[in-house]
Amino acid sequence: MPKIKNQYLKVDPWKIEEVGYKKEESMVSESLFSLANEYMGIRGFFEEDSDEKSLLGVYFNGLYTYSPKQIESAYKGITDKVHFMVNSVNWVRVQIEINNQIINFSEINHKNFSRSLDFKSGELLRSYTAILNDGLEVEFSFKRLLSMNTPEYGYQYLTIKANKDIDLAVKFSLDFNTLHWGKYHFWEEKQKSATSPTYVLGELPTKQRLLALMHIETNKDCEISYEESDLAVERKYKLRLKKAESINFERKFTGLKEKQASEKSHDLLEKGLKLLSNQPSYQEAYAMNIKYYQEFWNNFDISIKGNEEHQQGIRFCLFQLQQTFHGVDETNNIGAKGLTGEAYSGHTFWDTETFCFPFYLLNLSSAAKNLLMYRYHTLPQAKERAKELDCLGACYPIATLNGEESCDLWQHASLQLQPSTAIVYAIRHYMMITNDDDFLNDYGMEMLIEISRYLYSRGDFNQTRTHFGFYGVMGPDEFQMMVNHNTYTNYLGKESFKFTLEMLAYIKENYADKYCQILSKLNLTEEEINIWQEAEAKMFLLYDEKTQLYEQHLGYYELPHLDINSIPATDFPLYHNWTYDRIYRNDMIKQPDVLMFMFLFNSDFSNEVLQKNYDFYEPRCIHESSLSPSIHSILALQLDKNEEGYKFFEFATRLDLDNYNRNTLEGLHLTSIYAAWMNIVYGYGGLRTDALPIRLNPTIPEAWDAYSFHFTYKSIKIKVEVDKKSFTLILAEDLAEPIEIKTKPVYLKKGKNTFAI
Ligand code: BGC
Repeated sequence: MPKIKNQYLKVDPWKIEEVGYKKEESMVSESLFSLANEYMGIRGFFEEDSDEKSLLGVYFNGLYTYSPKQIESAYKGITDKVHFMVNSVNWVRVQIEINNQIINFSEINHKNFSRSLDFKSGELLRSYTAILNDGLEVEFSFKRLLSMNTPEYGYQYLTIKANKDIDLAVKFSLDFNTLHWGKYHFWEEKQKSATSPTYVLGELPTKQRLLALMHIETNKDCEISYEESDLAVERKYKLRLKKAESINFERKFTGLKEKQASEKSHDLLEKGLKLLSNQPSYQEAYAMNIKYYQEFWNNFDISIKGNEEHQQGIRFCLFQLQQTFHGVDETNNIGAKGLTGEAYSGHTFWDTETFCFPFYLLNLSSAAKNLLMYRYHTLPQAKERAKELDCLGACYPIATLNGEESCDLWQHASLQLQPSTAIVYAIRHYMMITNDDDFLNDYGMEMLIEISRYLYSRGDFNQTRTHFGFYGVMGPDEFQMMVNHNTYTNYLGKESFKFTLEMLAYIKENYADKYCQILSKLNLTEEEINIWQEAEAKMFLLYDEKTQLYEQHLGYYELPHLDINSIPATDFPLYHNWTYDRIYRNDMIKQPDVLMFMFLFNSDFSNEVLQKNYDFYEPRCIHESSLSPSIHSILALQLDKNEEGYKFFEFATRLDLDNYNRNTLEGLHLTSIYAAWMNIVYGYGGLRTDALPIRLNPTIPEAWDAYSFHFTYKSIKIKVEVDKKSFTLILAEDLAEPIEIKTKPVYLKKGKNTFAI
């Protein structure tokens, strides 16, 4: 893995801090210092004028538009209508004028620059002293906050102080002129007012709306004027500021979005004004955020003693994942870059169910349910997509925001079945941990049936009808396309049929009326159930008893071998430097494929078989996906390959903080952040939740003195504390279900349960 870290932030367990301005990292810092609260997100860009490299990004979860460059495809099933999360209103913009000179950060001298983001409050602070003409020095402090309690609320707090009397003018704007991908603009202005109230109502071509309102307070008397321009409003504050006196400006921002475009403008405005008039002060919101994060850290913290870099790395991950999603709304999901950038278009992938879901399932099951409900709400689009692909049932998209397929790379959109099978996996996982029969009866079963229909119609029997499997597919290793019998896809397909059949039998036995209702609502016949049974039983799995290896797909062993160590480091990332077809025509792997299903269905495989496959496939993997190292780390640790597991872990836990992939400037690798959580809890904690009883087998790396993490099982909170000699599980109550601890089922009691390591 030719990945080298680039560490420039100060190491601190509870915050990230840039001390002294790092010009060459300006966009990386913007990503790292992003704020979000699931409802909206804002990159850590500068408020005042600046010519530094920047992606001025403000995003509202679920606000999207369609690509302006749509060319109708003549080929059936090829996506020609892509959509993406759209950059929206810049609500922190200020223009500062001192003695008639506009302050442009790039053009002035400055000192004492620092920028920090505090994990205990979610406050972003940036400060510096501008050195102007004739010994004039002006101190600036910019604070920013998003409310975690009322997600429509954002805040800005600006303080200015000079060492001489100055003429000061500060212009605050709400500006919808932000450009997407640096060139496109999509907002149309519907209404605005610069005076009181101050607002702009913008509309997207999708007819979704965003009402941006602001209110400004200051501690000094100022001359106030108003300006309006296309898509923007401004309030200007002017005064003579005396030497050594501070002026504070507090901007309250309310951003009210309308995803469904159902309300009328005046209703929206009325609602927005009410919200703004009730908006607490910065100080009050700050105090509420502190309380919010206190509770979050009490319940979800991972503490690591003995390595501050790892501690900071994992806390940064936890902080960012909480900012991105915590189950506020059933129609929200988790984009691969969260709300921190435009790469990956704000889209949701199979990452959600495969990498993010376990965190919520084991910590906040209501949020886990919301993620499943998002898929339920987009079932109609998935059914439409199946039709487009000449299939039955529901085919979930590889990349989406609104449920429609939005990946215009046809080989991914048409050949990857893993979003649909990942949803089945997540429902299975959810049912195992929560036993939420209502969810199964009302929503889950319908998704399972429609996905099974799709899988059956997408797959086929061989000519002698001895095997069933999937032809012309692409597995999670995206370096092989149009292959037959990709073992991951077949394995997940088999398990999907199996689980659907099991759940049908379960409902039939326990909820007979519901069973009849489901059958009639979905026109499901015994015949259809029987053919799924046959497909499940005959699923073709390429396993060789002698070598104990699973072949990645039919013909994989025949591919020319490429020694991945012979690839020059400068060729990475390969997607930018090699053509697609050059990538495809050898046995190199992008990310775990066989090893992925061995992780997901871990209890199905002995360590011996796992080891054989790990030793065969890992040396062929270039880990081009940031999701890859964590899974390899978890499996390496299971196989006692401690050094290797540790090496992968180091990368996963500080992927963005140390910009290992050199692309953090585009946004954070949000879904990999969840994989970093798994790396500790499943990797070092040795937790496995793929079968009952769940299993736990903690170990500790040499570099740490101790660590702890939390999870909730059957509604009981469990804290796990591990040191070099022992580990202790602390429970709030007795647990009625056993947990397998180091191969033995144990009934854990309220209080401390200690075991030798
Ligand atoms: C990975 C996919 C993943 C996507 C979004 C790609 O690089 O190969 O597995 O779904 O990124 O994270």
